Amino acid sequence: MAFRSVEKSPTLHLNELSNDIQRAGRQIYKFGFGQSPFAPLQRIQDALKEAVCRKDYAPVQGVPELRERIADFHSRTDGHHIHPDQVVVASGSKILLYNLLLAFEKAVLYLPAPSWVSYATQARLARHPVEFVATSHENRWRLDPADLDRALANPDYATHEKILILNYPGNPDGLVYTGAELEALANVLRKHKTWIMADEIYGLLHHKGEHVSIAKYYPEGTIVTNGMSKWCGAGGWRMGFQVLPATIPSDFRAAIMAIASATYSCAPTPMQMAAIQAYVWDETTKHYLQDQRRILSAIGQEIYQRVAASGIHVHAPQGAFYLLLDFDPMRESLAARGIRTDVELCTRLLEETGVALLQGSAFNNDETQLTARLAYVDFNGQLMLDKVSQQSGRKVSAGLLHGECQHMLEGTHALTEWIANL
Ligand code: PLP
Repeated sequence: MAFRSVEKSPTLHLNELSNDIQRAGRQIYKFGFGQSPFAPLQRIQDALKEAVCRKDYAPVQGVPELRERIADFHSRTDGHHIHPDQVVVASGSKILLYNLLLAFEKAVLYLPAPSWVSYATQARLARHPVEFVATSHENRWRLDPADLDRALANPDYATHEKILILNYPGNPDGLVYTGAELEALANVLRKHKTWIMADEIYGLLHHKGEHVSIAKYYPEGTIVTNGMSKWCGAGGWRMGFQVLPATIPSDFRAAIMAIASATYSCAPTPMQMAAIQAYVWDETTKHYLQDQRRILSAIGQEIYQRVAASGIHVHAPQGAFYLLLDFDPMRESLAARGIRTDVELCTRLLEETGVALLQGSAFNNDETQLTARLAYVDFNGQLMLDKVSQQSGRKVSAGLLHGECQHMLEGTHALTEWIANL
């Protein structure tokens, strides 16, 4: 018998080690796992309770009212116009990314390194080759248009359809692209007739609320994925959608819809009813988003400053809830302690301080690059939202930050002390 070999989750080993340390009664600082600390708004939770009896299948493409709401909502937030016919709803955006890859007979997937762990695995399952385009701390982990141009010109793939996946605000880096940067990338993609899957799942968590979709600059070639997992704190609800180009070729669209109906059939109907209450652009939604951004930005900046002061290379966060740490400046002192790869780095850090980070090689960085992701979500999101909504002004008070995020700040201290004592 022969089975597909799929890489095991790279987090497994560190998770087991964390559990051992915790069982031994020692403190763990959980910066490894990145899940929203916030909960869906009460009205969305109520809508889900009310919809529990909606047991029938929904249309494959999604409930029409929900598609209208999503189109209206994201036309306001993403800088480009969306028609409800362009929207396809599914149980999470991840399956939409995978099904999109399955829609291509013969394609090559280009990915920036670092990028989210699942893309390359999905491409391999869909039997497409993967080509990485490296980025670096020095260029803010941004995909350089000239590097992309060179990669897309590769004659080995002259007869393949070309696809790029770009995720911003980014996991694992917490950084965004400016409009000018997106436009420059769009020009290269257009030149090489390349499809882009823009993973904008963290778009609404741009810390300044200024997310712009690359679809604005490349509408004919962009498929956007998004959903409720991050901005609504509802990853387990599995509600996602994609926005197809208005001008999508009919055979491409037909393939996407056929794969959808052959795999997940439709997103769960009660979830779609609840989502109708999520995609409402009113004052409650605006405050909910503003407060999350204020909190994430305040925590991210605080941890960023402390980490940067220790000499670790890191950029100030602009969105989502991640920092990508580059330990290159400590390379020699780490090597002197026998640490030469990011897994060795994360393992020793965890053993010696209780600080759990996720190694950069889980995001396709080279393991000798010595990078690791820090997720700053280990706090009580609901409590913070309640308290911040009572505070006026844009800034979260230092008292609140230090009071409610003390554990994460202690963990940051443990990390920077370890570096200082190398
Ligand atoms: N894309 C990125 C970059 C993510 O970090 C995640 C979740 O961790 C997802 C997609 C998954 O989204 P969904 O829950 O909609 O499948």
